[in-house]
Amino acid sequence: MYFEKYFQRDATHKVTEMVKLIKEELRETLKNASWLDDQTRANAILKVDKMAYSVGYPENLFNDTYVDENWNIPPSPSSENFYQLVARMERKFISLSLLKLNRQPATTSWNYPILFANGYYLAKENMITILPGYLKLPFYNQNLPDYVNYAIVGVTIGHEIMHGFDNKGRFYDAFGDAVDWWDNATSVKYMEKANCYVDQYTAEGVDGMFTLGENIADNVGFKLAYGAYKRLLKKRGLSSEPALPAFEKFTLEQVFFIAYNHKFCYNGEWNGDPNDRHTPPDMRVNMVARNSKHFSKAFNCEKTSPMNPEEKCSIW
Ligand SMILES: [Zn+2]
Repeated sequence: MYFEKYFQRDATHKVTEMVKLIKEELRETLKNASWLDDQTRANAILKVDKMAYSVGYPENLFNDTYVDENWNIPPSPSSENFYQLVARMERKFISLSLLKLNRQPATTSWNYPILFANGYYLAKENMITILPGYLKLPFYNQNLPDYVNYAIVGVTIGHEIMHGFDNKGRFYDAFGDAVDWWDNATSVKYMEKANCYVDQYTAEGVDGMFTLGENIADNVGFKLAYGAYKRLLKKRGLSSEPALPAFEKFTLEQVFFIAYNHKFCYNGEWNGDPNDRHTPPDMRVNMVARNSKHFSKAFNCEKTSPMNPEEKCSIW
């Protein structure tokens, strides 16, 4: 199987640790968010605890019995016409979908194509998935220093997790049910904080409301991955890691930002899809940096300079 030959299964262990540390970072962040009332905080922490994850491949990919039982469509007998074959396949796939009702999140088998370099969050399952294409260069390599891997894959994990708490995802609970678990006054405070992003991005020429969910995920996702990396160092009893060859003159914190930027490089003019809720790549880099205290500290930005404005948006 192509996947068995070219995919390094070991990568999933390190990235799974990354997911756990990012969830831990979010849990701590929620504990310390003074604007949350106790009940909303408890609901939010429950949502983090219950958030399932699947990294690299679904658990049952290498389970032949499972694959056979679920996906094997016996060949057509000579009496079967094309319509009957399609109907037989549809019956099989619909019954498989119905079996998923009221089950645990689908970490055992995925609902989406596997061969993409990306990640996604499913609100109705409260689950994140990191696809295998994302666990290879130019995004990931287990021999790279962890600050590079956290800045790229870690930020994506933080981004996907944060979709569970963005302006739409927050209306689903820990079990993926469409339930409003927010206290009214806390909900108002959330929208005030979210509106900071709406105004800030609108002022830069994009539709701040249309892109809000992605912008919350970008900003908070970055912060979570950065915090999780610091947690990793602490867990290992280290204060730093070796420098990246050719980047020796930069501090580790600076390289974290440079590696994050690297993910958004593109050549030529950016022709974005107007239906895409992500902002153009340069904004995804610059706005996150401007809102990050870690960025201005790492690069020693002067107060009120363009990359270190006084007003920074932050939800958590
Ligand atoms: Zn997103």
